[in-house]
Amino acid sequence: MSDPRTVLVLGGTTEGRAAAAALSGVDGVRVVSSLAGAVRSPRLPDGEVRIGGFGGADGLAAHLRAERVAGVLDATHPFAARMTANAAAACTAAGVPLVVLRRPGWTAGPGDRWHRAASVGEAAAALPALLPGRDGRVLLTTGRGGLASFAPVDAAFWIRAVDPPEPPLPRRHTLLLDRGPFHLDAERALFAEIRPDVLVTKDSGGAATAPKLAVAREREVPVVVVDRPPLPAGVAHAADVDGAVAALLGRLLR
Ligand code: NAP
Repeated sequence: MSDPRTVLVLGGTTEGRAAAAALSGVDGVRVVSSLAGAVRSPRLPDGEVRIGGFGGADGLAAHLRAERVAGVLDATHPFAARMTANAAAACTAAGVPLVVLRRPGWTAGPGDRWHRAASVGEAAAALPALLPGRDGRVLLTTGRGGLASFAPVDAAFWIRAVDPPEPPLPRRHTLLLDRGPFHLDAERALFAEIRPDVLVTKDSGGAATAPKLAVAREREVPVVVVDRPPLPAGVAHAADVDGAVAALLGRLLR
């Protein structure tokens, strides 16, 4: 019998865990999931796991060769742009097939009051015009990175993140240490307690963190939505776990 073919799943997301579970049921495939090591106690996928960066695109290419990886499924978060760029460069260099799992972004519906921002910095710059002066209240859900942009904004912030963020942070802030999935009733209770004037979010897409958008709509709260970074040119991609797994299995190196 031939050796199993190794698939490297770049994870750190719900989809990464689902892809690892789906691939570990496939005959002749060995799955190794990779996590950045960015959160203190990550949710672990089924099967083998390695943790920590590879050392850039060159480090990842060397890893792919050394581990004889037959295919890479990039299921990182849509905003993990550096990892996705490195995966594209490394897979090209090592001649290994790559499929990026990119769940669709969110779209505004009737009743939504969304303001698109090209970056976290642009989202911070948009806030003063949306707030009723320095008594303004902001629910900030963009995660732990890039919060320095919000430090100069004179408002009361509630910052939701998995682990405590590093300073600089807005002077007046309350940390909400929590991780999704977030459910509609709990989000309604949070909005009722905080009474935010503005919600700030990345356009992460997916169901796990979408209920905040429904509550913002119900309460007519404006939302600043940070646009996702584009995918590297020419990479194969799929919108869901089944599509990504099927696309990769069809392209695995023999
Ligand atoms: P990033 O800026 O694109 O990546 C920074 C560096 O972290 C990469 O260059 C790589 O280091 C390492 N890295 C990232 N993902 C990795 C993985 N799955 N396995 C091994 N190394 C990884 O990424 P980020 O935005 O900091 O996100 C880090 C992780 O958190 C990702 O795995 C992502 O799926 C997850 N996550 C991110 C967000 C978000 O909003 N950005 C939200 C939820 C989950 P080397 O260059 O040394 O290889």
